[in-house]
Amino acid sequence: MTTRGAGRYAPSPSGRLHLGNLRTAMVAWLFAKSTGRDFVMRIEDVDRGRDAGAADEQLAELAAIGIDWNGAPVYQTARRTRHEAAIAELASQGLVYECTCTRREILEAPSAPHAAPGAYPGTCRNRSEAERTAARAAIAPREPALRLRTDLHEMSFNDLLLGEVTAAIDDFVLRRGDGAIAYNLAVVVDDADMGVDQVVRGDDLASSTPRQILLQQLLGLPTPEYAHVALVLGPSGARLAKRDGAVTLEDLAEEGISPEDVRDQLATSLGLISAGESLSLEQLVSRFAPSKLPREPWIWRPEARENDC
Ligand code: GLU
Repeated sequence: MTTRGAGRYAPSPSGRLHLGNLRTAMVAWLFAKSTGRDFVMRIEDVDRGRDAGAADEQLAELAAIGIDWNGAPVYQTARRTRHEAAIAELASQGLVYECTCTRREILEAPSAPHAAPGAYPGTCRNRSEAERTAARAAIAPREPALRLRTDLHEMSFNDLLLGEVTAAIDDFVLRRGDGAIAYNLAVVVDDADMGVDQVVRGDDLASSTPRQILLQQLLGLPTPEYAHVALVLGPSGARLAKRDGAVTLEDLAEEGISPEDVRDQLATSLGLISAGESLSLEQLVSRFAPSKLPREPWIWRPEARENDC
């Protein structure tokens, strides 16, 4: 816990980081440092199970482009007790219910009035004790998921880069049927416990933010400031991925491109340096201003790398 606030990066250890991940991490680090904050690291391993190897590689990649962090990285799977405590707190407010629906049942159910498309239709919401017991027995040995009970259908927040963002909210999952803690719950509890008051991440997560703010409000936790960064796209215009060629530090090193070169290319894409310049992340701090960040996705064109970037 820190008293001066912290930014963070929270990778999922599912493989090597690519240029898009590295660029977002760099922006998050610059945001934190330029506002006098600490920077903390969290490995979001709840979803895919602990993969210590991938996490270590990712941390080494972040360090190679100059990103450092305060304290030891926090592993989300080690925080189960805190996550369960938050669910228990919500349950004590009458805001948690068991859901036995399969994905297919949710897709096939008629949607509730006023609900956004794709919203949970509320099938399991108002079960009596007897109905709940019967529903549980009917899916055994599968376990029910836990959902949040909310009457909100949408919420808006003010993003430092995107301005006002509005996204749908429904009775979203807190703990999945397989026992895994859901991302929205874990992220809220962990950010609060780690003293994070500034969340900078890819703009694909902007639509999850209202759910997270709702959880903060229900759990009596402060809401951090949010900045959602435009993603890096591949040459086809789709989100950058492995199919786009050499997009990880490892691949690029094989082409003779060093982590410092990558850092400089990313800094160029962020409008922080001009071609030919090379600056450390520390040196970039004084040049960084959120208002000057590009609002459009950066399109990665490997063949144009030498000249354009
Ligand atoms: N672990 C998520 C990811 O790698 C990021 C979560 C977050 O920043 O809130 O996409």
